[in-house]
Amino acid sequence: MPTATVSALSRVREPSLETCAVECGARCCRGHVAYLTPEEGDRMRRLDPRVWVRDMAPQEVLRYAGNPRGHVLMDFRSGPCVFLQADKTCRIYADRPNACRVFPTAPHPNCLVWPIESA
Ligand code: SF4
Ligand code: SF4
Repeated sequence: MPTATVSALSRVREPSLETCAVECGARCCRGHVAYLTPEEGDRMRRLDPRVWVRDMAPQEVLRYAGNPRGHVLMDFRSGPCVFLQADKTCRIYADRPNACRVFPTAPHPNCLVWPIESA
């Protein structure tokens, strides 16, 4: 069985419309969570009341210990982020949370920007 290894110590390319929306289909805007400051969480809710922002569960605080205390989660694990449009672009691109601006910060499976590759 192939083993997942980190084959690159840094991004292999930069995020772009062509890479993230067209080639990848904005995979990280579906089925994930994003870490927000409480202020960002309030801002997201004002932009669209359908956004589900919640506190981190205790096990999530431990698992994601690198996140500053008090962060909240924008949870879209069950589907697309409410801001994701049909053309796979972000409806609030200019106002998106910081987590979306800096992602990916580590290798992710199937990510074209910073992939984890099978050995
Ligand atoms: S998974 Fe990677 S390539 Fe795909 S949208 Fe996210 S950052 Fe871009
Ligand atoms: S706010 Fe925009 S960039 Fe962030 S997950 Fe939602 S659609 Fe993607």
